Amino acid sequence: MTMDIIAELTSIVGADAVMNAADDMAPFLSDWHSRFAGQAHAVVLPQTTAQVAKIMEFASQQGIVVVPQGGNTGFMGGATPDTKGNSILLSLRRMNRIREIDPTNMSMTVEAGCILQTLHETTEAQNLYFPLNLAAKGSCTIGGNLGTNAGGLNVVRYGTTRQLTLGLEVVLMGGKVLNMLSGLRKDNTGYNLRDLFIGSEGTLGVITAATMKLFPLPVARSTAFAEVRDVAAAVKLLHRLQAASGGSVEAFELIPADILHVLFEHFPEIQQPLAERGAMNVLMEIASTNPNSGVADSSGQIPLQGIMEDFLATAFEDGLVIDATIATNEAQRTALWDVRETAPESHKRSGVVARSDISLPQSAIAPFYAEMVSGIKAIDPTVRICGYGHIGDGNLHFNLVSHPASNTEFAEKIPSLFDLLYETLARYGGSISAEHGIGQVKRDQLKTVKSAEILDTMQAIKTALDPQNLMNPGKIL
Ligand SMILES: Cc1cc2nc3c(=O)[nH]c(=O)nc-3n(C[C@H](O)[C@H](O)[C@H](O)COP(=O)(O)OP(=O)(O)OC[C@H]3O[C@@H](n4cnc5c(N)ncnc54)[C@H](O)[C@@H]3O)c2cc1C
Repeated sequence: MTMDIIAELTSIVGADAVMNAADDMAPFLSDWHSRFAGQAHAVVLPQTTAQVAKIMEFASQQGIVVVPQGGNTGFMGGATPDTKGNSILLSLRRMNRIREIDPTNMSMTVEAGCILQTLHETTEAQNLYFPLNLAAKGSCTIGGNLGTNAGGLNVVRYGTTRQLTLGLEVVLMGGKVLNMLSGLRKDNTGYNLRDLFIGSEGTLGVITAATMKLFPLPVARSTAFAEVRDVAAAVKLLHRLQAASGGSVEAFELIPADILHVLFEHFPEIQQPLAERGAMNVLMEIASTNPNSGVADSSGQIPLQGIMEDFLATAFEDGLVIDATIATNEAQRTALWDVRETAPESHKRSGVVARSDISLPQSAIAPFYAEMVSGIKAIDPTVRICGYGHIGDGNLHFNLVSHPASNTEFAEKIPSLFDLLYETLARYGGSISAEHGIGQVKRDQLKTVKSAEILDTMQAIKTALDPQNLMNPGKIL
């Protein structure tokens, strides 16, 4: 059977685009955290939408499961097949052409396998800006970003991947191609199928291309790292900085002391941003597309830096900020961002980690955080509380990292720590998944937070588009 499948797939995409040796397939069959390991008949790397359509037609005829995969950096096990071995792992990595950049419409049409960083470099070379930005940018793909509705660092200003998308090209199970590529910013022609596929984690169809919004390229940035009084001060500072900068906050990240402790244990070469490691900190950035904002005026003042300096000075006076540093060149800015962007890797290298990806209304963040800290300490006073991340859009990665000396004891406490986290989150009206999705990690948990009516409606959509349940089964639902 497997040999017939390989022969058919080879006839569609060519021998060099089908792998079935265990060693070749291994990197595609486990996830970034090495938490899941799956099996597949083959890994297939199509290069065109027509090839994807033929694979989907063949899979449907033969009852073979298809698991789409981009850069395989997802955190929810969404791109890893199960262990039954009846899957085709469909890697979109070779579909990586930029079909069009349209500077007049401020949009680009790109194939699913384009690496995010390549999109940054290509658009920036044309003085254009694609603002989706996450620490996995060097390996994640736009198809995966769309599949998960990725968020990242700049959501506070530009929104999530969904808000950055104008059009999509999708192949359904069976091989139908839905060409919804469009540069329109307004289009009320019936149901919005585009948004249904964004964030569907490969369970409804394969995204093969997308038309994405572009923006004017920021030419000046001011980046600061500040120790703040507490989480409530951080939220207050966000709104003040928005007001002070005319809504130009590009990123606003919360970084508690435990993030720094874990980071410097594993990456001592990274520069410490402030002399002392403050209990609660914020990494913030404002940006402007106005060329004058980054150039010194007649008094020697750089306008954008001036906004940041004045904002921080007032915040010191008001007791919201305890210490701060502003990057004065690109190397200093990179050093500050290294602190934030290396945090996920430092957690990967740590002992046992209870990870989460939650969102809350801004008004609930500070009381939620305070309640969590005291509740966690009551369960385990040694745990490192790494509740960090995109506070600018209400998203926290509330990771709990074990103390190296107490990995086993900590592992036993994880269920009660998660009970505390999700019970508190529910009371404050939060979401169990802000940006990473559901995948297989939170599939059962989804059933506890959505009503039967909502789950039934999701299932009805899934069944209508994929009646044989062959599109990435076992994920989300
Ligand atoms: C260091 C690090 C930092 C990260 N930071 C962030 C962050 O700040 N914000 C954030 O949102 N995420 C973050 N992530 C998670 C991850 O990078 C994102 O979820 C990313 O969008 C996944 O892209 P990918 O190409 O790797 O997708 P994959 O991992 O390959 O796939 C993810 C999901 O999308 C589906 N999929 C992939 N391609 C397609 C396609 N063409 N059509 C349909 N479905 C598809 C898969 O089946 C799977 O369910 C981070 C990950 C790492 C490793």
